[in-house]
Amino acid sequence: MPVFASYVTLFIAILFLVSPVSAAADLAETLPASVVAVKTFQLEHKDVVAVAVETQLPAASVSDPLAYTFEPQYHITERNSILTLTVAAQSTLPADTNAAALIKFSPRLTRLATMPDNKNDFILTAAYSSRNATAAVTTVKRKRVIQPDDTIIFRTYLVLTFSDTLTTPPPKTIVLDPGHGGTALGATSNYLLEKELNLDITLLSRDIFRQHGYDVYMTRTDDSNPSLLDRADAANILQADAFLAIHNNSMPTDMPDAARKLYRGTTALYNSSALKPAKELATLLANELAGTLHLHQYPLQDRPGLVVLNSSWVPAVIVEVAMMPHPQDAKLLSQRVYRQQAAQAIFQATDKYFSLTALATRRN
Ligand SMILES: [Zn+2]
Repeated sequence: MPVFASYVTLFIAILFLVSPVSAAADLAETLPASVVAVKTFQLEHKDVVAVAVETQLPAASVSDPLAYTFEPQYHITERNSILTLTVAAQSTLPADTNAAALIKFSPRLTRLATMPDNKNDFILTAAYSSRNATAAVTTVKRKRVIQPDDTIIFRTYLVLTFSDTLTTPPPKTIVLDPGHGGTALGATSNYLLEKELNLDITLLSRDIFRQHGYDVYMTRTDDSNPSLLDRADAANILQADAFLAIHNNSMPTDMPDAARKLYRGTTALYNSSALKPAKELATLLANELAGTLHLHQYPLQDRPGLVVLNSSWVPAVIVEVAMMPHPQDAKLLSQRVYRQQAAQAIFQATDKYFSLTALATRRN
């Protein structure tokens, strides 16, 4: 079984925390580690700051890469609602990184800064309002990535989460991922660009989820193209209750045009070998889309090879709303009222999934 993220949640009840000691700690201490990114996430009910720490090893030097995990060395102190995270790592961030600008407005975080370091430590401070928020620290691992030069990059995020204390129970967190973007157009057919359809349907879904009290994070809200790993990371860092990638479908381009136009309908993709396989959620999504939109439904696809599905440690599904080469599907997709119905179906199915899981939990 592959190595998956171990979510070690350490509440800041104690003032001084040292990273968990693992079997690989000896090796980790001798490895050069770098802070390569600081990511911030502002949601309605929580703010999250994730410090990405990486190390790179020749594949040959790791006897069992599947068993190896990278544990950055760090400690955290808290005084007067100010958290200070010190990581034993060099920083490759630009010198002018203005962390304060990363959190623009938050009722919980009052200050966020990276401090000048002594080259071997990276220091981040976060001040928060203890009346409005509770703080927690977790570590989240990215899937190891084998490089063309036969080295392996291990990335671990040190994640600081500041959650609203006023909202009980805490709302569900959904990460919505509009497929493609930028120069990655996705499918193109009948004068439609998949990247634009995906974004519009996802933005419409976001609004519906928010109206129903969900905390929603979008992997993109414009014509950008985040990497697939960055998209999955967002779901993992936020410990989302579900990760939904929204796409539209096409048939292979080497198929004769006349044949491509024959297929219409909806489907959903999941990964049966994931840490949390989401076949049930995929089924609900495909059923709801097909039912609401009066579309043909293709069998679900089990796709463990797809990056967003095999790098997400939370239930993850890719939905393919409709088939773009088909003239009738294309006509429907080009209408906003229809995209609104698709967004509504995505919400209904996901909301139903959480009601069913809550019921099942109560029964056990
Ligand atoms: Zn796509």
